[in-house]
Amino acid sequence: MNATADQSTLSPDNPFARESTLPYKWPPLDKIKNEHYVPALEAGMAEQRKEVAAIANNEAAATFENTIVALERSGQLLNRAATVFFALSSSNTNPEIEKAQTEMAPKLSAHSDSIYLDAALFARVKQLYDRRETLQLDPESLRLLERYHTNFVRAGANLSEAQKKELRALNEKISSLTTEFRQFVLKGDNAAALVIDNRAELDGLSEAQIATAAEAAKARGMEDKWVLTLLNTTNQPALAQLKNRAVRERLFKASAGRGWGGEFGTTKLIADIIKLRADRAKLLGYPNHAAYVLEDETALTPEAVNSMLHQLAPAAVANAKREAGEMQQLIDAQAKANGTPSFQLQAWDWDFYAEQVRAKKFAYDEAQVRPYFELGRVLVDGVLFAAQELYGLKFTERKDLPVYQEDVRVFEVFDRDGSQLGLFLFDPYARSNKRGGAWMNSFVEQSRLFGNKPVVTNTLNIPKPPAGQPTLLTWDEVTTAFHEFGHALHGLFSDVQYPQFSGTNVPRDFVEYPSQYNEMWATEPRVLANYAKHHESGAPMPKELMDKVLAAQKFNQGYATTEYLAAAILDQRYHQLAAGKTPAAGDIAAFEADALKSAQVNFEAVPPRYRSTYFLHIFASPIGYSAGYYAYIWSEVLARDTEHWFKTHGGLKRENGDLLRAKVLSKGFSADALTLFRDFYGKSPDIAPLLEARGLTGGTTATAN
Ligand SMILES: [Zn+2]
Repeated sequence: MNATADQSTLSPDNPFARESTLPYKWPPLDKIKNEHYVPALEAGMAEQRKEVAAIANNEAAATFENTIVALERSGQLLNRAATVFFALSSSNTNPEIEKAQTEMAPKLSAHSDSIYLDAALFARVKQLYDRRETLQLDPESLRLLERYHTNFVRAGANLSEAQKKELRALNEKISSLTTEFRQFVLKGDNAAALVIDNRAELDGLSEAQIATAAEAAKARGMEDKWVLTLLNTTNQPALAQLKNRAVRERLFKASAGRGWGGEFGTTKLIADIIKLRADRAKLLGYPNHAAYVLEDETALTPEAVNSMLHQLAPAAVANAKREAGEMQQLIDAQAKANGTPSFQLQAWDWDFYAEQVRAKKFAYDEAQVRPYFELGRVLVDGVLFAAQELYGLKFTERKDLPVYQEDVRVFEVFDRDGSQLGLFLFDPYARSNKRGGAWMNSFVEQSRLFGNKPVVTNTLNIPKPPAGQPTLLTWDEVTTAFHEFGHALHGLFSDVQYPQFSGTNVPRDFVEYPSQYNEMWATEPRVLANYAKHHESGAPMPKELMDKVLAAQKFNQGYATTEYLAAAILDQRYHQLAAGKTPAAGDIAAFEADALKSAQVNFEAVPPRYRSTYFLHIFASPIGYSAGYYAYIWSEVLARDTEHWFKTHGGLKRENGDLLRAKVLSKGFSADALTLFRDFYGKSPDIAPLLEARGLTGGTTATAN
């Protein structure tokens, strides 16, 4: 479509047309309708094209202000519209948003290229960059100039015009295909939900869970049936409880079999995406996509990532095999006692027997602890309480701001001196129009340049109980709530000049550091005692039970580490392929099997956390976590070091929290990420606390930098 004049003028009735007048520039979600997105995005791109053209064609000599700061200021309309659009396309989508996404993804990609591949504009950036030492810039401004130069070069600014044309075409295609992948997976998850005809087959689930399954069936227009919906991970929580082995097998296979064929099959998309990414890397002068991506991470090279993953894998698999051995003994003993034939532990049995081993070893099971983990208490008396103790924050719930869905809660966050810090949204429940997983994002990014205070969200996927029932969390869900709030704090504490460096705009292998660190407060005895109270009686969790929960922390770590490493290795294998070497759609299954086998993480009882066909992290956006799923364990080194630091510096104390905030959490990407960490920790990262926490201290000598 040609850019026409009417696209650049947005109707004043469009809620995106001007900056929001609500507190914190909160988007007017009650006024934003599906039909507003496309015109606002189109007009936003047109507006930014004009702004950028004015910068590129400015007759005055390039200055930091008229070029770099001007670029940083450009695109505000586009940013307002895109922020809401992409947030809701993940957490509250509908067919019209999906259609708009399909239409807009390649256009947005082309728009970005039109800026970064503009030769006149790059010439100005380069002029400034080449004499950056003479410009007398403050450190954050100097870094902004360097970052722009890097961004331009990585986006292809040094290519010939013919190569730029090729690159534009590749980017547009990748953008369309990854959008399609996301939509296929969401639809495939819904289509693959397991339908149960007979209530007895749900034996082991709680009454509330069975009622949820009945409601899920009704929502799909089925009477007298039950539907077990799927989370995005290979493993499904109900596998821990379902007593009927055949139903477990069906549920597992429905999950692991998603996307391999049929209407929502994704193997063709995967083959196309990895091929095009490899081609793009070659065009940009890199041996493969991973080399291109990792150059801009703290890891720097595929070799560094491979080295870490492959050193951890054998110890993790050995642990998982030991755990499987304990479960096999239990299975054999039960078969003998019942006079029934025994069987070999399979992937769909793991959680069911792990629960029993846990119950035996630590003398408790999930069903005993869940009544102490009521969602509202976990959030307010746990997650927010820890932030209050550590950083002096106060939270007040606000009911006056429009939300996009009725379950979303909004909290105003007040700083240690009582001043307004930002807003925090909490969207807890799974919905069929929400993608799987849990994540944080920003509706407004902090920056002094625009005088913006942060508006951040945490989105979770907790099954919603039937009306009137409490939401009782699993231990995993409790940990996830703390994790996501760690990201939220990184956004809320941001105190930078330029939006480019705001909050969580850091390398992916650093961004998981504040979140994983924040998980430690879930088990801090004072925090745990404050939130772990019985949902009916309010009685504190008995000390013996709490001690058991704490003692069980290392339980099942072989499984958790192996399923994660398998997915991380799979991601690297796909993205370390050179152009011309990527598998065809029909070979994706064999490639996956071979990748796991050659890395010796092909232990069938522990499948990858995500199989290729629904691996959203790596295939659902143009870059996303592609070649970056390793980032979680890479960041975890820093998180575990920090946990160790807190434990040896007096734990939950304001002065400790304030120090971490000052040195790391407020800095965003305004300085090099590892420098920030060293500045806080006093030395380079040390892998020992991670190995200890994951039970991997069996003689491994992995290092991370
Ligand atoms: Zn995270």
